[in-house]
Amino acid sequence: MTHFYLDNNATTRVLPQVLDAMLPWFSECYGNPSSSHQAGQQAKSALIAARASVAKFLNASPAEIVFTSGATEANHTAILSALEANPHKRRIVTSAAEHSSTLLLLESLAKTRDLDLLKVGLKADGSLDINALKQAVTEDTALLSLMHANNETGVIFPITQAAAIAKAQGAVFHTDAAQSASKLALDVKQLNCDYLAFSGHKLHAPKGVGVLYVKKGMPVTPLLFGHQERNRRGGTENLPGIIGLGTACDLAQAHLQQAQPAMSLLRDQLQEQILARLPFAKINGHVERVPNTSNICFPGLHGEELLHRLNQANVYASQGSACTAGGTDPSHVLIAMGLSREDALSSVRFSLSRETTAVEIEIAVETIVGVVSAMTQTIQAAA
Ligand code: PMP
Repeated sequence: MTHFYLDNNATTRVLPQVLDAMLPWFSECYGNPSSSHQAGQQAKSALIAARASVAKFLNASPAEIVFTSGATEANHTAILSALEANPHKRRIVTSAAEHSSTLLLLESLAKTRDLDLLKVGLKADGSLDINALKQAVTEDTALLSLMHANNETGVIFPITQAAAIAKAQGAVFHTDAAQSASKLALDVKQLNCDYLAFSGHKLHAPKGVGVLYVKKGMPVTPLLFGHQERNRRGGTENLPGIIGLGTACDLAQAHLQQAQPAMSLLRDQLQEQILARLPFAKINGHVERVPNTSNICFPGLHGEELLHRLNQANVYASQGSACTAGGTDPSHVLIAMGLSREDALSSVRFSLSRETTAVEIEIAVETIVGVVSAMTQTIQAAA
């Protein structure tokens, strides 16, 4: 059945070229890159080639790339390593909008290691309060961990500026680039980061593979011990996944220049048409964003029910909120922007990929407008 997939910040489709590149490495060339025989050496060569692709994608050198199981693991390794680099400093600075893989770890570390965790707030438009960041990062700051683009709103944080603030105080700088990889050009030298993390499945590679960039000279505290990845991440490499990731990085790099304006044109069409026909709707984070994301609040509507109805109409979107046993928690990102609990729960995220077409957007808009109008009419009739 045809569906309209507008949930690419959650995950993306593995591209046919990526799958084709991976397939031989399951049952034809299945050697272990650590084996000295020919099958192993063939696998090792493929691993080297994939690492070179990822390094090129980030403007890094191959030795600075560590393959992981995803951004969660890469964020964990980066944060634990950064603290190792600055063992006597007691403060960690982050933002209130980070992904749970960063926030929950930092909260746990603050508790167990008695560290001072500061979460810099957001402005109403979703951008980072840079003045608050400047004040938060002191000489006693071991680590500044800041995402490049937000997964819920798509808002871009000023990473280069933040890195300079961190470096001026001798703090290590880590960025979670899970939502910017393939949507913005990533250049670790320009971003000036010590550690950077991203996940394959957000850029048309499979799930379960990701990258940690470690600037030359920075320490790595492994989560998993073993001799692979230069003793920085033990465990036999997920070779098909890594090869898929290398191919996906090559494709993302080749398509970026043309994909960026194409995605933002369609994303703008989506939100402009929705706003024109549903003038009560509001965009959350109407500032500089990655080109594929639009988070829209439909005040008065129950976001979860809206998503359920959209799902029934084959339009897949999502809400940046976590379900808990007792109900639904509003998104911590939208709350940090100052939205009321009700407005946060009435918000829905639409996220495109470079595969999204104008026809899909047209049909999705019709569906969204139809479903939202029907829900508003029901509410008005009941009032
Ligand atoms: N950081 C951000 C900003 C993300 O959006 C995600 C995935 N939702 C992650 C980290 C974690 O990625 P993974 O689940 O692939 O480890």
